Amino acid sequence: MLWKRLSWVNMVMIIVCEDNIMKQKMKVKFWGVRGSIPSPGMLTSKYGGNTPCVSIHLGEDKTLILDAGTGIRQLGKELEPVLTDIFLIVTHIHWDHIQGFPFFAPLFQKDRVIYVFPYQRGETMFNSLFVQMDGAHFPVTMDHIPSKCCLVTEDITVFMRQHGFYITRITNNHPGGAYGFRVENNGRSVVYITDNELFPPGGENSWNSFVDFCRDADLLIHDAQYTEQDMPYKHGWGHSLVEQAVGLAASAGVKHLVLFHHDPDRTDDELDLIQERTSREIGERGLDIRCSVAYEGLELEL
Ligand SMILES: [Zn+2]
Ligand SMILES: [Zn+2]
Repeated sequence: MLWKRLSWVNMVMIIVCEDNIMKQKMKVKFWGVRGSIPSPGMLTSKYGGNTPCVSIHLGEDKTLILDAGTGIRQLGKELEPVLTDIFLIVTHIHWDHIQGFPFFAPLFQKDRVIYVFPYQRGETMFNSLFVQMDGAHFPVTMDHIPSKCCLVTEDITVFMRQHGFYITRITNNHPGGAYGFRVENNGRSVVYITDNELFPPGGENSWNSFVDFCRDADLLIHDAQYTEQDMPYKHGWGHSLVEQAVGLAASAGVKHLVLFHHDPDRTDDELDLIQERTSREIGERGLDIRCSVAYEGLELEL
């Protein structure tokens, strides 16, 4: 009888806990918005030169991090004073999405719990976040990290569901592979798809599958590394045109599109022009979409 009573009590606690989580708002913040390689300097200081990292705070005690580019260093400093549980997901393991991890301050906090999901392709797991800390590429090895940093090999959807995040995943079109993620809570949704070529030469994942995945999202953060001038030379490199990201947002009925993963050579002035031109064209087409060019420090609440 005792185990039944305990199970029942636990069930109630889980339901109460999930109910509280469901009522909390998601706070999305951008820490790194640049693709391929960090690009600091006077020409990129407005939008920022750090590589991809976006945080989603759910209430006061849970932080989901998407990608561990160099932007994660600054996020780590902000997280240091509060012992939230941290969940880190990488879209893939290209350098620009993992290279900030060794400089993530919470790794070095004794009582900190960090759940890390390895990148998985087929049956193969790539735990590049930990592997790069081998004593040769970085002086501190994972054996000497004081935090409780756990590698999670369970199904990402099931595991995150237990912690209040409703997550689904899509396979991107990108050399070497990558995933996009949709996070939902309290009837609101954020879709994060970076390093994705919407019209690749091979046509791996279809336009329609991305439209379905992004359907009615409140916020779509999408790769928009290239402009028409980059084509056809960079066709097949695994990134999308600004116009294609806008087209996806329009077809899927997205409310707010954030253009992301800027080319390292794209200057602040050029990104200003992209913001101006894209907003004007969306208005001329009569589309009901808010469009922002991602910059470091951008914060959105859903
Ligand atoms: Zn990238
Ligand atoms: Zn990539």
